[in-house]
Amino acid sequence: MEKFPVSEPDIGACEEGYLADAAASGWVSSLGPYISRFEKEFAFSSGVDHACTVTNGTSALFVALRALGVGPDDEVIVPALTFAAVPSVVMSLGASPVLVDVDENTWCLDPISTKRALSQTTKAIVAVHSYGHPVDLDPILAMAGDHGISLVEDCAEAQGAKYKGKTVGSLGHAGAFSFYGNKIMTTGEGGMVTTRDGELADRVRLLRDHAMDANRRYYHAEVGYNLRLTNLQAALGCAQLSRIEELLSKRSQVLGWYREELSHLGDVDLNPCSPWAEPVNWMVCLLLKGKRADRRDGIIAELAERGIDTRPFFVALEELPPYSSARRVGRFGSALPIAARLSRTGLNLPSSPILSRSDVSYICGVLRSVL
Ligand SMILES: *Cc1c(COP(=O)(O)O)cnc(C)c1O
Repeated sequence: MEKFPVSEPDIGACEEGYLADAAASGWVSSLGPYISRFEKEFAFSSGVDHACTVTNGTSALFVALRALGVGPDDEVIVPALTFAAVPSVVMSLGASPVLVDVDENTWCLDPISTKRALSQTTKAIVAVHSYGHPVDLDPILAMAGDHGISLVEDCAEAQGAKYKGKTVGSLGHAGAFSFYGNKIMTTGEGGMVTTRDGELADRVRLLRDHAMDANRRYYHAEVGYNLRLTNLQAALGCAQLSRIEELLSKRSQVLGWYREELSHLGDVDLNPCSPWAEPVNWMVCLLLKGKRADRRDGIIAELAERGIDTRPFFVALEELPPYSSARRVGRFGSALPIAARLSRTGLNLPSSPILSRSDVSYICGVLRSVL
Protein backbone atom coordinates (compact mmCIF):
# COMPACT_ATOMS: atom_id res chain seq x y z
CA MET A 1 0.00 0.00 0.00
CA GLU A 2 1.20 3.48 -0.82
CA LYS A 3 1.77 5.88 2.06
CA PHE A 4 1.14 9.60 1.82
CA PRO A 5 2.32 11.83 4.66
CA VAL A 6 0.61 15.20 5.17
CA SER A 7 3.84 17.03 4.47
CA GLU A 8 7.30 16.27 3.13
CA PRO A 9 10.01 18.85 2.42
CA ASP A 10 11.35 19.31 -1.11
CA ILE A 11 15.13 19.03 -0.65
CA GLY A 12 17.43 18.19 -3.55
CA ALA A 13 20.75 18.78 -5.24
CA CYS A 14 20.58 22.56 -4.86
CA GLU A 15 20.21 22.29 -1.07
CA GLU A 16 22.95 19.63 -0.88
CA GLY A 17 25.34 21.90 -2.76
CA TYR A 18 24.80 24.91 -0.48
CA LEU A 19 25.03 22.76 2.66
CA ALA A 20 28.24 21.10 1.50
CA ASP A 21 29.74 24.50 0.78
CA ALA A 22 28.83 25.80 4.25
CA ALA A 23 30.20 22.66 5.91
CA ALA A 24 33.46 22.78 3.93
CA SER A 25 33.97 26.45 4.85
CA GLY A 26 34.12 25.57 8.55
CA TRP A 27 31.51 28.21 9.38
CA VAL A 28 28.99 25.90 11.00
CA SER A 29 27.82 28.00 13.93
CA SER A 30 26.05 31.35 14.00
CA LEU A 31 28.75 33.36 12.21
CA GLY A 32 29.31 33.01 8.49
CA PRO A 33 28.45 34.49 5.12
CA TYR A 34 25.19 32.63 4.50
CA ILE A 35 23.45 34.37 7.41
CA SER A 36 23.67 37.90 6.05
CA ARG A 37 23.06 36.63 2.53
CA PHE A 38 19.90 34.82 3.62
CA GLU A 39 18.72 37.94 5.47
CA LYS A 40 19.34 40.23 2.47
CA GLU A 41 17.67 37.91 -0.02
CA PHE A 42 14.73 37.25 2.28
CA ALA A 43 14.19 40.98 2.92
CA PHE A 44 14.20 41.57 -0.83
CA SER A 45 11.72 38.76 -1.51
CA SER A 46 9.40 40.05 1.24
CA GLY A 47 9.46 43.66 0.09
CA VAL A 48 11.07 45.05 3.28
CA ASP A 49 14.44 46.58 4.12
CA HIS A 50 15.29 44.37 7.09
CA ALA A 51 15.13 40.66 7.83
CA CYS A 52 16.67 39.06 10.95
CA THR A 53 17.23 35.30 11.22
CA VAL A 54 16.23 33.57 14.46
CA THR A 55 16.04 29.98 15.70
CA ASN A 56 12.40 29.27 14.80
CA GLY A 57 9.02 30.83 14.12
CA THR A 58 8.07 30.88 17.77
CA SER A 59 11.18 32.87 18.68
CA ALA A 60 10.51 35.20 15.74
CA LEU A 61 7.11 36.07 17.23
CA PHE A 62 8.55 36.23 20.73
CA VAL A 63 11.40 38.58 19.90
CA ALA A 64 9.23 40.77 17.64
CA LEU A 65 6.67 41.28 20.43
CA ARG A 66 9.42 41.77 23.01
CA ALA A 67 11.18 44.33 20.79
CA LEU A 68 7.86 46.16 20.36
CA GLY A 69 7.65 46.48 24.13
CA VAL A 70 5.00 43.86 25.00
CA GLY A 71 5.22 42.94 28.69
CA PRO A 72 3.24 42.35 31.89
CA ASP A 73 -0.19 44.03 32.11
CA ASP A 74 -0.50 44.23 28.34
CA GLU A 75 -3.17 42.53 26.28
CA VAL A 76 -2.32 41.04 22.90
CA ILE A 77 -5.09 40.13 20.45
CA VAL A 78 -4.67 36.72 18.79
CA PRO A 79 -7.01 34.66 16.61
CA ALA A 80 -9.05 32.06 18.50
CA LEU A 81 -8.00 29.36 16.01
CA THR A 82 -4.28 29.03 15.39
CA PHE A 83 -1.19 27.15 16.51
CA ALA A 84 -0.63 27.38 20.28
CA ALA A 85 2.80 29.00 19.82
CA VAL A 86 0.99 32.30 19.24
CA PRO A 87 -0.72 32.68 22.65
CA SER A 88 2.14 30.86 24.42
CA VAL A 89 4.60 33.53 23.32
CA VAL A 90 2.25 36.24 24.63
CA MET A 91 2.03 34.50 27.99
CA SER A 92 5.76 33.92 28.23
CA LEU A 93 6.18 37.69 27.99
CA GLY A 94 3.86 38.03 30.99
CA ALA A 95 1.10 39.54 28.83
CA SER A 96 -2.46 38.26 28.34
CA PRO A 97 -3.71 36.86 25.05
CA VAL A 98 -7.23 37.92 24.05
CA LEU A 99 -8.88 35.27 21.88
CA VAL A 100 -10.77 36.83 18.99
CA ASP A 101 -13.04 34.88 16.67
CA VAL A 102 -12.07 34.27 13.06
CA ASP A 103 -13.92 35.22 9.88
CA GLU A 104 -15.68 32.38 8.09
CA ASN A 105 -14.45 33.61 4.70
CA THR A 106 -10.74 33.92 5.54
CA TRP A 107 -10.37 31.63 8.61
CA CYS A 108 -8.26 34.50 9.98
CA LEU A 109 -8.87 37.27 12.55
CA ASP A 110 -12.31 38.80 12.04
CA PRO A 111 -11.90 42.61 11.79
CA ILE A 112 -15.31 43.29 13.36
CA SER A 113 -14.58 41.15 16.41
CA THR A 114 -11.05 42.57 16.59
CA LYS A 115 -12.46 46.07 16.87
CA ARG A 116 -14.79 44.93 19.67
CA ALA A 117 -11.80 43.44 21.50
CA LEU A 118 -9.74 46.63 21.76
CA SER A 119 -9.21 47.85 25.33
CA GLN A 120 -7.13 50.42 27.20
CA THR A 121 -4.40 47.81 27.65
CA THR A 122 -4.25 46.39 24.09
CA LYS A 123 -0.58 46.63 23.19
CA ALA A 124 -0.39 44.51 20.06
CA ILE A 125 -2.34 42.43 17.56
CA VAL A 126 -0.91 39.23 16.10
CA ALA A 127 -2.55 38.86 12.69
CA VAL A 128 -1.96 35.23 11.70
CA HIS A 129 -2.26 34.52 7.97
CA SER A 130 -3.79 31.10 8.58
CA TYR A 131 -3.53 28.09 6.29
CA GLY A 132 -1.95 30.23 3.56
CA HIS A 133 -4.75 32.83 3.35
CA PRO A 134 -4.00 36.47 4.22
CA VAL A 135 -5.85 38.34 6.95
CA ASP A 136 -8.13 41.17 5.76
CA LEU A 137 -5.52 43.66 6.98
CA ASP A 138 -6.76 47.12 5.95
CA PRO A 139 -9.33 47.51 8.75
CA ILE A 140 -6.89 46.05 11.27
CA LEU A 141 -4.06 48.32 10.13
CA ALA A 142 -6.42 51.29 10.51
CA MET A 143 -7.35 50.28 14.08
CA ALA A 144 -3.71 49.76 14.99
CA GLY A 145 -2.84 53.19 13.59
CA ASP A 146 -5.72 54.96 15.34
CA HIS A 147 -4.95 53.44 18.74
CA GLY A 148 -1.14 53.29 18.65
CA ILE A 149 -1.15 49.49 18.73
CA SER A 150 1.61 47.33 17.24
CA LEU A 151 0.70 44.89 14.49
CA VAL A 152 2.74 41.73 14.01
CA GLU A 153 1.93 39.54 11.03
CA ASP A 154 2.46 35.83 11.69
CA CYS A 155 3.44 34.56 8.23
CA ALA A 156 4.50 31.07 9.33
CA GLU A 157 1.79 29.46 7.19
CA ALA A 158 1.68 31.98 4.36
CA GLN A 159 5.14 32.86 3.06
CA GLY A 160 4.68 34.36 -0.41
CA ALA A 161 0.96 35.14 -0.04
CA LYS A 162 -0.23 38.59 -1.08
CA TYR A 163 -2.81 40.96 0.37
CA LYS A 164 -4.10 43.39 -2.29
CA GLY A 165 -0.88 42.88 -4.22
CA LYS A 166 1.47 43.32 -1.24
CA THR A 167 3.57 40.49 0.16
CA VAL A 168 2.63 39.38 3.68
CA GLY A 169 5.21 40.36 6.26
CA SER A 170 5.65 43.82 4.74
CA LEU A 171 2.43 45.45 5.98
CA GLY A 172 2.57 45.42 9.78
CA HIS A 173 5.28 46.67 12.15
CA ALA A 174 6.92 43.26 11.92
CA GLY A 175 6.44 39.90 10.22
CA ALA A 176 7.33 36.54 11.75
CA PHE A 177 8.19 33.52 9.57
CA SER A 178 8.89 29.85 10.35
CA PHE A 179 11.17 27.48 8.44
CA TYR A 180 10.10 24.31 10.24
CA GLY A 181 10.14 21.17 8.05
CA ASN A 182 6.46 21.41 7.10
CA LYS A 183 6.38 25.12 6.22
CA ILE A 184 6.51 26.71 2.75
CA MET A 185 10.31 26.52 2.84
CA THR A 186 12.52 24.96 5.47
CA THR A 187 15.88 25.31 7.17
CA GLY A 188 15.18 22.29 9.41
CA GLU A 189 14.28 24.61 12.26
CA GLY A 190 14.48 28.35 11.71
CA GLY A 191 12.67 31.64 11.63
CA MET A 192 12.84 35.23 10.44
CA VAL A 193 11.62 38.64 11.59
CA THR A 194 10.91 41.12 8.78
CA THR A 195 10.38 44.84 9.25
CA ARG A 196 10.55 48.17 7.44
CA ASP A 197 11.75 49.77 10.69
CA GLY A 198 15.55 49.87 11.04
CA GLU A 199 15.45 50.57 14.78
CA LEU A 200 13.16 47.62 15.38
CA ALA A 201 15.54 45.40 13.37
CA ASP A 202 18.44 46.60 15.54
CA ARG A 203 16.44 45.75 18.70
CA VAL A 204 15.75 42.24 17.35
CA ARG A 205 19.45 41.73 16.53
CA LEU A 206 20.45 42.90 20.01
CA LEU A 207 17.92 40.71 21.83
CA ARG A 208 18.65 37.57 19.78
CA ASP A 209 22.33 37.75 20.77
CA HIS A 210 22.12 38.04 24.58
CA ALA A 211 21.52 41.81 24.39
CA MET A 212 25.28 42.24 24.40
CA ASP A 213 26.40 45.79 23.70
CA ALA A 214 27.86 46.07 20.19
CA ASN A 215 30.63 48.38 21.42
CA ARG A 216 31.42 46.86 24.78
CA ARG A 217 32.02 43.14 25.02
CA TYR A 218 30.19 41.33 27.84
CA TYR A 219 28.20 44.40 28.74
CA HIS A 220 24.47 43.63 28.80
CA ALA A 221 22.13 46.54 29.56
CA GLU A 222 19.06 44.28 29.63
CA VAL A 223 17.98 40.65 29.59
CA GLY A 224 18.64 39.01 26.24
CA TYR A 225 18.33 35.58 24.62
CA ASN A 226 20.24 33.27 22.32
CA LEU A 227 17.99 33.04 19.27
CA ARG A 228 20.68 32.73 16.61
CA LEU A 229 20.29 30.66 13.44
CA THR A 230 23.41 28.81 12.22
CA ASN A 231 25.30 29.38 8.98
CA LEU A 232 24.44 25.77 7.99
CA GLN A 233 20.73 26.48 8.38
CA ALA A 234 21.11 29.78 6.53
CA ALA A 235 22.81 27.92 3.64
CA LEU A 236 19.79 25.64 3.44
CA GLY A 237 17.61 28.76 3.59
CA CYS A 238 19.45 30.41 0.68
CA ALA A 239 19.01 27.26 -1.40
CA GLN A 240 15.30 26.97 -0.64
CA LEU A 241 14.74 30.69 -1.20
CA SER A 242 16.43 30.46 -4.61
CA ARG A 243 13.72 27.91 -5.49
CA ILE A 244 10.81 29.70 -3.81
CA GLU A 245 8.84 30.38 -7.00
CA GLU A 246 9.13 26.73 -7.96
CA LEU A 247 8.11 25.58 -4.46
CA LEU A 248 5.09 27.91 -4.42
CA SER A 249 3.94 26.97 -7.89
CA LYS A 250 4.26 23.24 -7.21
CA ARG A 251 2.19 23.73 -4.06
CA SER A 252 -0.49 25.67 -5.85
CA GLN A 253 -0.59 23.07 -8.61
CA VAL A 254 -1.22 20.37 -5.98
CA LEU A 255 -4.17 22.35 -4.58
CA GLY A 256 -5.46 22.90 -8.13
CA TRP A 257 -5.49 19.13 -8.71
CA TYR A 258 -7.44 18.61 -5.48
CA ARG A 259 -9.95 21.26 -6.62
CA GLU A 260 -10.44 19.46 -9.94
CA GLU A 261 -10.87 16.07 -8.27
CA LEU A 262 -13.21 17.21 -5.51
CA SER A 263 -15.17 20.08 -7.08
CA HIS A 264 -18.30 18.06 -7.74
CA LEU A 265 -18.49 16.66 -4.18
CA GLY A 266 -21.24 18.16 -2.04
CA ASP A 267 -20.90 19.23 1.58
CA VAL A 268 -17.16 19.92 1.47
CA ASP A 269 -15.12 23.07 0.96
CA LEU A 270 -11.43 23.41 0.15
CA ASN A 271 -9.15 26.35 1.11
CA PRO A 272 -10.83 29.77 1.03
CA CYS A 273 -9.82 32.45 -1.48
CA SER A 274 -11.06 36.01 -1.03
CA PRO A 275 -11.28 38.24 -4.14
CA TRP A 276 -8.53 40.55 -2.79
CA ALA A 277 -6.22 37.71 -1.76
CA GLU A 278 -3.44 35.75 -3.43
CA PRO A 279 -3.15 32.88 -0.96
CA VAL A 280 -0.45 30.22 -1.03
CA ASN A 281 -1.07 26.53 -0.46
CA TRP A 282 0.58 25.70 2.85
CA MET A 283 -1.79 22.82 3.59
CA VAL A 284 -4.66 21.46 1.57
CA CYS A 285 -7.68 22.04 3.81
CA LEU A 286 -10.93 20.10 3.64
CA LEU A 287 -13.90 21.47 5.55
CA LEU A 288 -16.79 19.08 6.11
CA LYS A 289 -20.29 20.52 6.04
CA GLY A 290 -23.93 19.47 6.27
CA LYS A 291 -24.38 15.79 6.96
CA ARG A 292 -20.65 15.16 6.83
CA ALA A 293 -19.81 17.75 9.50
CA ASP A 294 -19.89 15.27 12.42
CA ARG A 295 -17.78 12.61 10.75
CA ARG A 296 -14.34 14.28 10.79
CA ASP A 297 -12.56 12.01 13.26
CA GLY A 298 -13.99 8.84 11.67
CA ILE A 299 -12.87 9.99 8.24
CA ILE A 300 -9.37 10.69 9.56
CA ALA A 301 -9.21 7.16 11.01
CA GLU A 302 -10.45 5.49 7.81
CA LEU A 303 -7.98 7.42 5.66
CA ALA A 304 -5.14 6.46 8.04
CA GLU A 305 -6.05 2.76 7.63
CA ARG A 306 -5.64 3.23 3.90
CA GLY A 307 -2.23 4.86 4.10
CA ILE A 308 -3.34 8.48 3.87
CA ASP A 309 -2.05 10.71 6.61
CA THR A 310 -4.15 13.73 7.56
CA ARG A 311 -4.24 16.30 10.37
CA PRO A 312 -7.25 17.69 12.15
CA PHE A 313 -7.42 21.52 12.20
CA PHE A 314 -5.95 23.20 15.28
CA VAL A 315 -7.87 22.74 18.52
CA ALA A 316 -9.64 26.03 19.32
CA LEU A 317 -7.42 27.86 21.81
CA GLU A 318 -10.25 28.28 24.33
CA GLU A 319 -10.26 24.48 24.75
CA LEU A 320 -6.57 24.35 25.77
CA PRO A 321 -5.92 24.58 29.52
CA PRO A 322 -3.36 27.46 29.48
CA TYR A 323 -5.73 29.70 27.49
CA SER A 324 -9.13 28.59 28.76
CA SER A 325 -9.46 31.60 31.05
CA ALA A 326 -8.29 34.16 28.47
CA ARG A 327 -10.68 36.98 27.58
CA ARG A 328 -12.72 36.01 24.47
CA VAL A 329 -14.39 38.25 21.93
CA GLY A 330 -16.59 37.25 19.02
CA ARG A 331 -19.10 39.23 16.96
CA PHE A 332 -21.76 38.66 19.61
CA GLY A 333 -20.39 38.63 23.15
CA SER A 334 -17.73 36.18 24.18
CA ALA A 335 -18.76 33.16 22.08
CA LEU A 336 -16.30 32.10 19.35
CA PRO A 337 -18.58 30.06 17.07
CA ILE A 338 -16.58 30.21 13.84
CA ALA A 339 -13.31 29.09 15.46
CA ALA A 340 -15.19 26.26 17.19
CA ARG A 341 -16.87 25.05 14.01
CA LEU A 342 -13.74 25.16 11.84
CA SER A 343 -11.73 23.43 14.53
CA ARG A 344 -14.20 20.52 14.71
CA THR A 345 -14.88 20.07 11.00
CA GLY A 346 -11.59 20.76 9.22
CA LEU A 347 -8.74 18.46 8.23
CA ASN A 348 -5.56 18.74 6.20
CA LEU A 349 -4.90 16.34 3.34
CA PRO A 350 -1.45 15.33 2.00
CA SER A 351 -0.01 18.64 0.78
CA SER A 352 3.63 18.08 -0.19
CA PRO A 353 4.98 19.93 -3.20
CA ILE A 354 6.47 16.63 -4.37
CA LEU A 355 3.06 14.98 -4.94
CA SER A 356 2.28 14.09 -8.56
CA ARG A 357 -1.02 14.36 -10.43
CA SER A 358 -1.54 10.62 -10.10
CA ASP A 359 -0.79 10.71 -6.34
CA VAL A 360 -3.52 13.31 -5.91
CA SER A 361 -5.96 11.30 -8.07
CA TYR A 362 -5.28 8.22 -5.96
CA ILE A 363 -5.73 10.12 -2.68
CA CYS A 364 -8.97 11.69 -3.90
CA GLY A 365 -10.28 8.32 -5.10
CA VAL A 366 -9.79 6.89 -1.62
CA LEU A 367 -11.28 10.02 -0.05
CA ARG A 368 -14.38 9.82 -2.24
CA SER A 369 -14.95 6.22 -1.28
CA VAL A 370 -14.52 7.01 2.42
CA LEU A 371 -16.90 9.97 2.21
C1 LIG B 1 4.47 26.86 12.70
C2 LIG B 1 3.88 28.07 13.32
C3 LIG B 1 4.56 28.81 14.30
C4 LIG B 1 5.81 28.33 14.97
O1 LIG B 1 6.89 28.12 14.18
P1 LIG B 1 8.08 27.17 14.70
O2 LIG B 1 9.15 27.41 13.71
O3 LIG B 1 7.57 25.77 14.70
O4 LIG B 1 8.45 27.64 16.07
C5 LIG B 1 4.00 30.00 14.72
N1 LIG B 1 2.83 30.43 14.25
C6 LIG B 1 2.12 29.73 13.35
C7 LIG B 1 0.82 30.27 12.88
C8 LIG B 1 2.62 28.51 12.87
O5 LIG B 1 1.89 27.79 12.00
